[in-house]
Amino acid sequence: MSEQGEEFKSLEERRAAKQQELEAQRERHKKEGGPSGARRRGLVIVNTGNGKGKTTAALGLMLRASGRGLKVKLFQFIKHERAKFGEHRSLEKLEVPFQGLGDGFTWRSKDLDQSAALGQAGWDAAKEAILSGEWDMVVLDEFTYALAYGWVAWEDVRAALEARDPKVHVIITGRRALPELIEFADTVTEMQPVKHAYEAGIGAQAGIEH
Ligand code: ATP
Ligand code: MG
Repeated sequence: MSEQGEEFKSLEERRAAKQQELEAQRERHKKEGGPSGARRRGLVIVNTGNGKGKTTAALGLMLRASGRGLKVKLFQFIKHERAKFGEHRSLEKLEVPFQGLGDGFTWRSKDLDQSAALGQAGWDAAKEAILSGEWDMVVLDEFTYALAYGWVAWEDVRAALEARDPKVHVIITGRRALPELIEFADTVTEMQPVKHAYEAGIGAQAGIEH
């Protein structure tokens, strides 16, 4: 065999060995908890604090998870009526479902009774999704207010989180996270405002705020 032949053969062999190694790695990944692996550990992640970035960090996780083939769903507890923010347009393209709960209600609402009822109805829908086993990741955007205002009882939330399939990731965002939620969660990040363009008179912009 010529020297070239030897080289060719060893290249083929190297390729085959690499292929085998990749297959073995895939198998390990499957067994040991890759994205859909049996030993994947679902996390409760809380993004809180007064700085900008809580919702967008949750959306970033959704982007990452979706890219790994996880089934993700977004519930938004505060959403402007008929709002179609940049994230909603992108989520549509990714075919990731989102649901605005109590569309049109805000925590500034004068009608607190209505807000409470909507917040509770929103939680009922989110709880169903968390417990359904249909989703790998459920995001509850601005959910901390429903807890802080007492529209949803922490004990009910804790019970649902404990009862969920341990593979399900739950992401919760919003200011004023309850100490009980912080204690319960696996990962908590507090966004600390250093400065915000708003203070310099620069208003909300498409692509940055919505
Ligand atoms: P984002 O959606 O940009 O990640 P967030 O979820 O951390 O922001 P929220 O408390 O939900 O912040 O407030 C939403 C809006 O308030 C956003 O448009 C954001 O830019 C703005 N905002 C956040 N932090 C501040 C701040 N410290 N001063 C003024 N506006 C802020
Ligand atoms: Mg937010």
